[in-house]
Amino acid sequence: MKAKIGFEIHVQLNTKQKLFCRCSADYTDKDPNTNICPICTGQPGSKPMPPNLEAIKNVIKVGLILGCKPNHVRIYFLRKHYFYPDLPKNYQITSEPLMVDGNFFGVKIREVHLEEDPGRYDLRNGYVDFNRSGTPLAEIVTEPDIESPEHAKGWLEKLFLYLKYSRAIRADPGSIRVDVNVSIEGGERVEIKNVNSIDGVYRSLKYEILRQTRMLIVGKRIKRETRHYDDEKRITAPLREKEDIADYRYIPDPDLIPIEISESLIDNIKRDILSPIEYEKILKNKYNLKENYIQKLLQNPEFLELCIYVLKNIKKEDPNRVAEILTNHVWRVIKDTNLEFHQIKNLQLVRNIERLLTILNRVDRNKLCDIVSAMLLNSEDPVNYAKKKRYLLQEVDKNKIISIVKEILTSETKAVNDYLNGKKKALSYLVGKVMSRLEIKPNPKTITEIIKEEIYRTYR
Ligand SMILES: [Zn+2]
Repeated sequence: MKAKIGFEIHVQLNTKQKLFCRCSADYTDKDPNTNICPICTGQPGSKPMPPNLEAIKNVIKVGLILGCKPNHVRIYFLRKHYFYPDLPKNYQITSEPLMVDGNFFGVKIREVHLEEDPGRYDLRNGYVDFNRSGTPLAEIVTEPDIESPEHAKGWLEKLFLYLKYSRAIRADPGSIRVDVNVSIEGGERVEIKNVNSIDGVYRSLKYEILRQTRMLIVGKRIKRETRHYDDEKRITAPLREKEDIADYRYIPDPDLIPIEISESLIDNIKRDILSPIEYEKILKNKYNLKENYIQKLLQNPEFLELCIYVLKNIKKEDPNRVAEILTNHVWRVIKDTNLEFHQIKNLQLVRNIERLLTILNRVDRNKLCDIVSAMLLNSEDPVNYAKKKRYLLQEVDKNKIISIVKEILTSETKAVNDYLNGKKKALSYLVGKVMSRLEIKPNPKTITEIIKEEIYRTYR
């Protein structure tokens, strides 16, 4: 049965300060309730400061990486009301969508908006720690374009790789929380709340799809509901009804003026981001690369940036030849040796690949990874290294072979006759004879061809 999966993903934006006050956004390793002020603890009479510009820039960055367009309207901050111990002012401030209509590796992005994180409530003992309260989050909402738990895992990994690489989001673990929507053909949509790791998303989906499939098989109805995922028991279970009722009574926050995103701000941010959808276009249109190379280049943002640099700087070469070396051999060496991207000297890599391409037709293909590994790890020159290691196939002097073949054919009349009478073995015998006279051994196929030509020319 086919599954339809969509996400609401919360990521922590990488900023120095919280969203509406000056407290530090970095609350790790701090004693509980030491990273707080009247604003982020919602004390009576406190009002939010204007939103942190760094957070706004980073949420736009997230949107651009996901191929979104800016939402060119006045964007209001809203109060989303709910009552829970982690939220002392009884509403969470969340923005309207800042970025809309994206596409990231085939999954459509509905919108990205900004919101403040609540504190942390420990259900077991009732403690609340407000160090996190008011730190900025981006919420990414996808369309239900994901088809399986495996697809979900691979896609989320790529998403975090790109977002972390761009430094728009915090890299520490625990910085991801996902609400997962899943339905299978013929059933209602079920939401799994607050899954906090990519593996957790994968496991909760495995369980939930199996549960829904079994219910449909025995003829039960799947009802629309919200569940939570228990990673210890590895099951999903219904949330209590009262938590399920979402009546947030959204109203625009009268303490905050709406914002507008200008073109110049977008242009400024665009300059240093790596959006796979944009790069796919460049690789296709400018470099005319084959699809399988493009997909390999896009799998890792650091690798992509490195390869774009190489493609840009190698001028007089077919980009597909360059991409072949990059995606096959360079990528394999990086993976196998855990080489860090920053250890690779870009300009040197360009020169070395240019050098390597000059001998590509003569080099033993099985030795290419060894050559690339020597040039990446030990700064060896690929041509000198290949010569030193005798990886180059020898150039053969065809005229010399022909004269030897002629001599052998005159002296080996029996073998020639055997061959003419249809004994195929005689040919291999003749090839061996010629080989034994040559110091540099060419491809036996070359000799076979020459012998055949000579026999036909002389004896037919
Ligand atoms: Zn504060």
